[in-house]
Amino acid sequence: MARINLNHIRHAYGAKPKSENDYALKEVHHEWNDGGAYALLGPSGCGKTTLLNIISGLINPSEGEILFDGKDVTHLSTQERNIAQVFQFPVIYDTMTVYDNLAFPLRNRHVPEAEVDRRVKETIEMIGLGGWAKKTARGLTADQKQKISLGRGLVRNDVSAILFDEPLTVIDPEMKWVLRSQIKRLHKQFGFTMVYVTHDQTEALTFADKVVVMYDGQIVQIGTPAELFERPRHTFVGYFIGSPGMNVLPVKLDGGTATIGGEQLGLTFQPKVKAGAKTELGIRPEFVSLGREGMPVAITKVEDIGRHKIVRARFADQPISIIVDEDGEIPAEPRVTFDPKAINIYADSWRVGEE
Ligand code: ATP
Repeated sequence: MARINLNHIRHAYGAKPKSENDYALKEVHHEWNDGGAYALLGPSGCGKTTLLNIISGLINPSEGEILFDGKDVTHLSTQERNIAQVFQFPVIYDTMTVYDNLAFPLRNRHVPEAEVDRRVKETIEMIGLGGWAKKTARGLTADQKQKISLGRGLVRNDVSAILFDEPLTVIDPEMKWVLRSQIKRLHKQFGFTMVYVTHDQTEALTFADKVVVMYDGQIVQIGTPAELFERPRHTFVGYFIGSPGMNVLPVKLDGGTATIGGEQLGLTFQPKVKAGAKTELGIRPEFVSLGREGMPVAITKVEDIGRHKIVRARFADQPISIIVDEDGEIPAEPRVTFDPKAINIYADSWRVGEE
């Protein structure tokens, strides 16, 4: 398995990009650890598939280079890079048996037949298709076919990385978690480097050690689920991750004091902000308390979703969401306070640190 370096990668589909907006990938520069499980998460069109295809070798980037374990593979094919891929739709041979589908990549590499037999049998058990070896793939369900796609990567046992492009899209909801936990277990057992594209935040958060959040052709943050939740680096990460997402409110700053709509809030730090920047305060709905103390809000809607209520309100002329316990009271003259430790400050959409 490989450590992957993406060095100053940029990509434009058109031949002559005229402006920054013509780039589907603007600047990707990161190192991904050997054996890591990375989920690429972001809205439609943000560049996830483009980046995955650049890693696999299906696309040559317009600029930059890709290294696997320090070796430049930028101009090598997928096969030469030794990459296994699992796509949205299983890529298997419908007329072949499960056994032959798994044997195919090994026979292609002229692995001796005794070794093929041993590895195929091992893999069939690993992917939970024991007993299905002689069945032709055509009759299998979508999740069983997807298990074969995964098995074709694992059977080779020499791949640099396994890339997944929304592999659970066509799987029935009740089978999704089975397959997800199987992939997770196999990753733990074999430690393959895994890059997993999804636009489903639950999938990304439950699955990966590191979530790579993409927005508008850039990686805006790579972090653990806890880091993305507590300290979103960009306002986009704040409201994309979480349900509902982080509240982002325009704010005036003066040293350790923040003013929103005439209301003053103390901060636990002095944010370092360049003059003229657009400043915003980020606070997650979980850390806004509704009660009789604090700053006035006007409630517009209460959504009861079982374990808790989501209160939608207007605060300082801005929409705000608040999470309240199921048995939490909603006062007649509601007010809010923000947990000072949970406040993030943003300048031109990027999180700022202390002075
Ligand atoms: P989705 O979740 O919808 O698959 P994505 O995050 O994977 O989206 P990409 O498919 O990588 O995003 O697309 C990134 C940008 O590049 C989009 O603006 C898209 O329209 C553009 N794009 C993708 N493929 C091509 C192509 N073959 N030719 C021209 N533009 C393309």
